[in-house]
Amino acid sequence: MAQILDGTMVRNEILARLKPRIQKLKRPPGLAVVLVGHDPGSEIYVRTKIKTCAEAGIYSEKLTPPETVTTADMLAIIADLNLRPDIDAILLQMPLPKQVDTRRVLEAVAPDKDADGFHPVNVGKLVAGRPAPRACTPAGIMELLKHYKIPVDGRRAVVLGRSDIVGKPMALMLLHENATVTICHSRTPDLADECRRADILVAAIGRPAMVTGDFLAPGATVIDVGMNRVTDPLEAARLGKIEEFGRKGSVLVGDVHPLEVARVASAYTPVPGGVGPLTIAMLMANTVALAEQHQAAVSSASALTH
Ligand code: NDP
Repeated sequence: MAQILDGTMVRNEILARLKPRIQKLKRPPGLAVVLVGHDPGSEIYVRTKIKTCAEAGIYSEKLTPPETVTTADMLAIIADLNLRPDIDAILLQMPLPKQVDTRRVLEAVAPDKDADGFHPVNVGKLVAGRPAPRACTPAGIMELLKHYKIPVDGRRAVVLGRSDIVGKPMALMLLHENATVTICHSRTPDLADECRRADILVAAIGRPAMVTGDFLAPGATVIDVGMNRVTDPLEAARLGKIEEFGRKGSVLVGDVHPLEVARVASAYTPVPGGVGPLTIAMLMANTVALAEQHQAAVSSASALTH
């Protein structure tokens, strides 16, 4: 029977470890979340992030510029947040509206307030193996592997997907832990063959249940990052989720076939309850680490002037 890797439990542990660090600070860590428009998915994510901040003892502030916001308006909002001493971390909820130059706005966030580790300075530090805020989803996956004592050193890891927010940073983090890493994407020939070589497979492609049993080596550890909403009852039935579909009218599925992974893998993350909760926990961890840095910098500056 494959082991289910419980992301909610690991999330709770990560948050519990943050508590004493938060209590030691002179003021609560502060996270600003900028949410443009009314995309229902984004609104749910932001609500969960703000709720988790409250649970953890982190001050949060939601800014909601209108859908018609311009790049200049966004840059002004970020410039203001960059200067505020009570804000340690800034999160831009994606996607931003089409008229906004997303790259420019992301790069305007001060690297030492970059809640998601997306700023090129922090990406560079990840490549170089230097401390910096890390992309939350892959950082959470590394915590999960550590928690379950799944060996990474010397093992073959395949990362399916090469996005800036999941696939690429995931590959680097596994590499830093001495895995032999292969990155696959939409142009990779013989995808199933590549994936079958993995001791650890991370699927982050946004394709519901595309990774079927023939992609998996028996005994592999499978991390399913995908979050896909299935609204077709036949598809829900194929995935063994017709009962849930009947109750809810749709089902959330990952990139990995939920029945086949349970049959072939030795351990896997469920969807939901796997990677999702870890992403939010690592957002909190990044915010706390940035607050510690800011407060240490203030203390050493005041020591110098006294
Ligand atoms: P992107 O759309 O940015 O990237 C998807 C990647 O998958 C691309 O590299 C793409 O290849 C590759 N890909 C797409 N289709 C195929 C295919 N048929 N065969 C091989 N490769 C393919 O997605 P994200 O990385 O942002 O997200 C991936 C999934 O993870 C989504 O379902 C998203 O909702 C979920 N997610 C979940 C999070 C969580 O907290 N649980 C957090 C972030 C994301 P190419 O580059 O060649 O186009």
